[in-house]
Amino acid sequence: MNTRMKKIGILGFQGAFVEHELHIERLGHEAVDVRYPGQLEELDGIILPGGESTTIGKLLIRTGMMEPLRQKIENGLPVWGTCAGMILLAKELEDDPMKHLAVMNIKVRRNAYGTQIDSFDTDILIPAVNSEPIPLVFIRAPYVTKVGAGVDVLCEIQGHVVAAREKNMLATSFHPELTNDSSFHRYFIDMCNE
Ligand code: GLN
Repeated sequence: MNTRMKKIGILGFQGAFVEHELHIERLGHEAVDVRYPGQLEELDGIILPGGESTTIGKLLIRTGMMEPLRQKIENGLPVWGTCAGMILLAKELEDDPMKHLAVMNIKVRRNAYGTQIDSFDTDILIPAVNSEPIPLVFIRAPYVTKVGAGVDVLCEIQGHVVAAREKNMLATSFHPELTNDSSFHRYFIDMCNE
C-alpha cells in the first residue's frame, strides 16, 4: 500500500467542488480543480461532483475531456461520482437513451425521489465506510435500479441502491461533501492507495 500524499482532481465545471476540496485537504491530501484534459495526467484519483448531469456531460465533450477521462478510468484511475457524477458513470440510464462516460455497470434513474421528497437527509450505518452511522444528504438524487456483474452494493435505502463500487469506481446518490463527515472521502483515498 502506497500512503504518500495523493493528488485528487475534482471536476470543477459546476456543483459542490469546493466542498469536496475542503474534505480532501482536511485529510492531508492535495485537491485540484480540473477543467482541462491535460490536468488528467497528474492525478491519483478524480471526483465528479453533483450538479446537472446533462450540463456536465456537454461540458466534458466541449472541453475535449470525455474521451481521455473515459480512457483513464478504464485504465484504472480511481473515480468517485456523487449524485450527477453517478449519472455520468452509469452505463445505462432508466427511461433515457442518453449515456455519458458509461463506464460503470449500473443502471440509474435520475431524479428518482420524485417531487414530494426530492431532497432529504438521514443517518445510516455503512459498515464498509464507518463503524458508526454517518449523515447522508440527498438533493434531487438518482438511485441505482440495476446492478451488473462485478458491482458491490455499499448502501441501500428502502430497497434502493444509493452507494456502489465496481473496482476503481465508486458512485453515491448522496453528497458526503455537504456534511462534516469525511468518512467517504477517506474511503475514496483508500481506493487511491490500493
Ligand atoms: N438531478 C440532477 C441530475 O439529474 C442531479 C442532482 C445533483 O447532482 N444534486 O443531473
